[in-house]
Order: sequence, then C-alpha cells, then structure tokens
Amino acid sequence: MNDKAVNQKAETQHYDVLIVGAGISGIAAGRYLKTFRPNDSFAILEEKNTFGGTWDTHKYPGIRSDSDLYTFGYSFKPWIGPPIASAQEILSYLGEVIDENNLDSTIQYGQRITKANWCSSSNLWNLDVTNLNSGQTSQIKAKFLWMCQGYYRHSKGYTPNWDGMEDFEGDILHPQDWPDDFSGNGKEIVVIGSGATAATLIPNIADDCKHVTMLQRSPTFFLTAKNANELADTLREIEIDEEVIHPIVRKRIVYDQAAFTLRCRTEPDQVKKELLSMIKIHLGDDYDIDKHFTPDYRPWRQRLAFVPDADLFKSIASGKASVVTDEIERFTSKGLLLKSGEELGADTIVTATGFNLSVLGDIEFSIDNTSLAFNETVTYRGMMFTGMPNFAWVFGYFRASWTLRSEMVAEFLCKLFDHMEENSISSVVPALRESDKTMPILPWVDEEDFNPGYLQREGHLLPKRGNVNEWQHSQDYWTESKEFAEIDLNDDVFVYR
Ligand SMILES: Cc1cc2nc3c(=O)[nH]c(=O)nc-3n(C[C@H](O)[C@H](O)[C@H](O)COP(=O)(O)OP(=O)(O)OC[C@H]3O[C@@H](n4cnc5c(N)ncnc54)[C@H](O)[C@@H]3O)c2cc1C
Repeated sequence: MNDKAVNQKAETQHYDVLIVGAGISGIAAGRYLKTFRPNDSFAILEEKNTFGGTWDTHKYPGIRSDSDLYTFGYSFKPWIGPPIASAQEILSYLGEVIDENNLDSTIQYGQRITKANWCSSSNLWNLDVTNLNSGQTSQIKAKFLWMCQGYYRHSKGYTPNWDGMEDFEGDILHPQDWPDDFSGNGKEIVVIGSGATAATLIPNIADDCKHVTMLQRSPTFFLTAKNANELADTLREIEIDEEVIHPIVRKRIVYDQAAFTLRCRTEPDQVKKELLSMIKIHLGDDYDIDKHFTPDYRPWRQRLAFVPDADLFKSIASGKASVVTDEIERFTSKGLLLKSGEELGADTIVTATGFNLSVLGDIEFSIDNTSLAFNETVTYRGMMFTGMPNFAWVFGYFRASWTLRSEMVAEFLCKLFDHMEENSISSVVPALRESDKTMPILPWVDEEDFNPGYLQREGHLLPKRGNVNEWQHSQDYWTESKEFAEIDLNDDVFVYR
C-alpha cells in the first residue's frame, strides 16, 4: 500500500458526479472535473486501498507499460523519462497528478460499488457500496455515473482448465497474482503464453532461473526498438522546455502510430517482413522464425507486443530462455506433456494466459429496478449507451494509448455537463433516431479487426455497435479526436429531460 492510501468510510452521500475507479482513467476524470467544473461535487470510489488500478494490480517481475508514456501519460503533465515505464514509475507519476490537482480528498479507498439503480423520478443513480475494510455498507446518490473501472477483473486472471493440473507437483502461478517472495533460483520455469506479459516477464526472470521456456500455442507479433524517443532527446539537447516537448512528441507518436496501423491494413505483408527482420537481427538466420515468431494473422489483429531494447530476444539468444510452439495435452507431475509427444519438465509453470473480462466492474445494474441487459444496449461512440441515462464508460484504445481516450471522454463530458447546467437539464441518454433504426446492429468489436482472447471468450457480454462512427467505438484516435471535438450537443441523438 503506498502512502496515498487511506481508508475512509463512505457515509450516505450525494454527488453531482460519481467516478468509479482510481486508475489512470478515474484520476483523469477527477482532474478534468476539478479544472473545468470546479463547482461540481464529486467522489472517486475505489475498491483497492490505493490508486493506480492496473499498475497496482500487476506485480510480476519487470511489469511495465507497452505504450510510450508521452501518450499513455496525460496531455497536461509532461513525461520526462524513457518512453516505456515501469509500474512504479507510472504510479509515481499518477501520485504527482493526485497531489498537483488536490485529488486526494476526493478518492475514497476500499469502497466497492455492488449495485447501481437509476431512478427516473429523481433522475439519480442510487448506489450500494461496501467498505471492504470494515464490511459496512452504505448508499450513495449521484446525478451522473462516470465509469472508469477498466475492462478486466482485477481479483483474478484467466487460467484455462487443463487436464492433470492437480497432478503437477510444482507451483502454478498467474502473473496477475504474483507472490512477493518468488524466487526463480535454480528453477526450470515454463511460461504459458506469448503476449506482452510473457514477453516482459521472461527476460526479467531469465537471469535468476536455471532456464525459462516460453510455451505458445501460436506466435505473436513483436515490435522491438530502443527504449528512447529520438525527437524528445534532440529537443532536450537544445534545451527546449518539457512543457513544449511533451505535446510535440505526443503528436509525433500518435501520427506515426496511425500511419503504422494503416500500413498494417494496406500492406500487411511488408509490415510483417519488417517486424520479422527486427527479430532476425537478434536471433540470427538459423533460428526458426517461421515457426516461433510468424503469426497466421495480419499485424495488429491482436495487440502487438512491444519489446524495448529487444530484451526478450537477447534472453533467447543467450540460451537463458527458449521458445516452444506446441499445444498442451496435459499437465503431469513433473511438467507438461505436449500434443507433439514432447515433455517439458518444470518446477514452476506460469500461466500468462490473460484476463477475465469484467463488465461494468461486476456491479449489478438496474434501471428503475429492472435488471439491465448491458449487452442489449447500443453504444454511442463507445462511451454512452442507449437506455442508460447520465452514464458514461471510459473504454480506451487497443492500438493507441488507452489514456488518449480517457481524456477525450473527459473533455466531452465536461462540455456536456456545462450544456446541461446552462439549459437546466437533469438527464441525458443517447437514443437511436428513426433513421438509425435500419442500420445493422453488430457486436462491440469486429473480430476480423481485433480479437484478443478475453473478447473471444466473453465479448458477447458487451453492448452492441452500429456501422457508423457515431454508433461505435471506432478505435481510430485520429478520426475520433476530430469528431469528438465537433459533437453537437443539440443533436437529436441526445434525449434530454
Ligand atoms: C499488465 C497490463 C499492461 C498494460 N499496458 C498498457 C499500455 O502500455 N498501454 C495501454 O494503452 N494500455 C495498457 N493496458 C491496458 C490498461 O488496463 C489501461 O491502459 C489502463 O491502465 C486502464 O486504466 P483504467 O483506469 O481505465 O482501468 P484500470 O486500471 O483497470 O482501473 C480500474 C479501477 O477501478 C476499480 N474498480 C473496478 N470495479 C470497481 C467497483 N465495482 N467498485 C470500486 N472500484 C472498482 C479497480 O479496482 C481499479 O483500480 C495494460 C493492461 C495490463 C493488464
């Protein structure tokens, strides 16, 4: 628990805005309200005893961002370190944002929201809250609910059920539940999975273990580069202020990312060749890159894992780590039997197998006491939902930094609150216009475009989208940043009362 963490009891309270979650999105929400809506009363409710969300939950060796902090950090606070940052560095940055914006007193820790009911007669959300430290429950009323609860369950990661798991005599660990006293000393470790978590963990434990094997069913695309930003370093060299460097570097990065994402669609074969050639530099021509590092999907269809300073490939090249591409038949007492018949001995097996989707922070939602089917709502720009008044959810980007969207939504909501105040409006809900009712209603994400495991398993629990940007989360920051700025609050898509 860091020094900002305090336990407070949520009394029966009434707020203009209630923010759920004190992760990077909830802290952004608080900062925007403090800055642009100074007269609004608000609270940030957080079930942990500290802030940071994702960056507090994950404690495995090497835990770091895979986005650069120029864009994963906020627009309003310059990032001055190397682009890829450790969880501790991110937490320190967030702590400074809390201090600099006097947000400490607005965050109530150890408070889990369990139920939320919208009451049309009072135009209020009624929330049931449990203080996880005392066990006490309380009620909160809020005019607007700003959901910053992320997208996955913090309490437990996803581990598939394999035959024979109970026979294994060693430890099975999930990175989301990493023990403080872990020691790899002299151990044979198998890490199941090859996403960003496995790629981070392996080079960070390889030196302390006997050997680490990355066992993957199928390969992942990796992007590797030096953990430095040339433009930022050049501007620093000529003594430009950090306040000036930050927005320029941010713009450069989002511009380059958009161009790269477009290239992944328009010339996937060329991008694939370039990504693989970066790996070849470290592993050499004799390494079986086809088998271990060549996915059968186009780049960016699943999250592309960034490997700063090629640390994963250096561990493989040194012989401390290796890759096996195969499927698990079953766990045995001594390790894993693979479908090929090969056996992998292990003292510890790490299941870097991903997350469980948590829809709406596992809060039981109802509208006028009728249980809400969230997956039957249609999303307005991936942030508001038909049939859910005075409600917004921050769902960030898959291919760009999540935080870009946290701020975009925050900016929009502050304008919406101004508009509602100026026009004495109590509630707002997006609704399909007559002309929208003929559009195809589709799943939240086009799985041809992006299909990570947690969405393949549980994506059906998410709201629906239409086939135009207004009725979907387009995942395109460049387009959205222009469109969000131009949203007409008098548009008949918004039903006000
Ligand atoms: C290991 C890892 C690395 C990542 N790296 C990147 C990256 O480099 N770049 C990127 O763009 N994205 C990354 N992501 C995605 C990442 O989750 C987001 O970028 C970002 O941190 C999410 O912030 P958030 O505040 O929206 O949600 P979270 O960080 O998930 O925080 C949500 C908070 O809400 C609280 N909460 C949830 N439900 C309730 C409830 N019912 N009552 C009270 N409190 C509740 C939780 O306790 C939590 O503290 C990464 C994800 C993981 C798991």
